[in-house]
Amino acid sequence: MPGTPTLVTVLSMNLAWLVLLALPIEFLPSKYDGMPRCEEIKAAAPADRAAAVAAVRKCTGLDWADREEIRIRFQDASSDPEAAKGARMALRRTEVLEGREIVAITLFWEYLMTGQADAREEITHEYVHAVHRLNVPRERYLATPRWVREGLALHVAGQGPARVRWILQDRIEAGPDALVDGLEPSGRGHDQRDYAEDWLAFRYIEEEHGAERLRAVMRDLIAGRRDWQDAVRTHTGEDAESFVGKARSHARGTVRAIEGGVREELLPWLSRARDPAADAGETVTGLREFLRRRPDAYCAPRARLALAEAELARGEVAAARAGFLELLSRYPEEVADADAARFGLVRCAEAAGDSAAEARERAALERDYPLSRHRRDTGSVEPAAGRGGGDEEE
Ligand SMILES: [Zn+2]
Repeated sequence: MPGTPTLVTVLSMNLAWLVLLALPIEFLPSKYDGMPRCEEIKAAAPADRAAAVAAVRKCTGLDWADREEIRIRFQDASSDPEAAKGARMALRRTEVLEGREIVAITLFWEYLMTGQADAREEITHEYVHAVHRLNVPRERYLATPRWVREGLALHVAGQGPARVRWILQDRIEAGPDALVDGLEPSGRGHDQRDYAEDWLAFRYIEEEHGAERLRAVMRDLIAGRRDWQDAVRTHTGEDAESFVGKARSHARGTVRAIEGGVREELLPWLSRARDPAADAGETVTGLREFLRRRPDAYCAPRARLALAEAELARGEVAAARAGFLELLSRYPEEVADADAARFGLVRCAEAAGDSAAEARERAALERDYPLSRHRRDTGSVEPAAGRGGGDEEE
């Protein structure tokens, strides 16, 4: 009889309900539902969670990393007013569910769909914080310096090298030494720029004392067995003061080596690109030459964006459009201002007098970049600088 549930249907509905309750992964309704990339990310989520658990185990030697109290939720940033307060890739909250403390990690679809964030990396990063949080009382967790918490998460998630390159590019005017201003033992004054140095302190332990000792330090930290000074002293023999000093000079050397003097070549062209009195033709030629010589430089996306902007200013619309498209496909994670490339496509369509394309590009901008300053409807929402937020919980 149509409309009457059979016994099998009722059973499977109940089973599905039970499975959903037990599943540590939840997908809230999204504007991207049904799109191939969205469905691929959903299908990969259980494997991504398993990879996060495996990474924590590998880096710490702890075998109890698979915590049922850690829930992962996917939702649209545009549906969460909390998310709109800062440019967050992910958010983590401690909640009480049926009398139990759980840690809920929320990933935002917009960043995953545009490629600004990688689901596996974000899940692993937040998973490290969550395991750490579950192992130590709240007050002690919050008293742990940010550099310790972030360095741990970046190292386990394998995000360190890319993060250093990204921050170097984002702060190219300030230069590499500005990334290394000392660890903040008190936790005060820590900002997005400090993530590079946070990770490099862990890298220092690995390079100076070996992977085994680093693993021991990380195990003690994440298990809440020792504070950082005690963990470092026990496993490396260095006292806190000596460690902070040595980690700093190691970080400075590493960052300078990655920078490699490339900024000296690019900075004059970036400042010309901003100067309305400069010859735009020369700027275009200079930036093209830079990219020909340094296609893989950490700051290539910055150069590519400046070049596309200069081409558009000169009326070379087709070349500018190709540049903005290349930025979105080749460097989705690295463009400091990813929405600027998308907005560039809106302006290219406008310059070409193609109003249908302009409307299409604008709709994509509004859908994918809810915090963009280039949106028409939310001029009041200022995106926070940097990435990898979501660590300000509790
Ligand atoms: Zn973090």
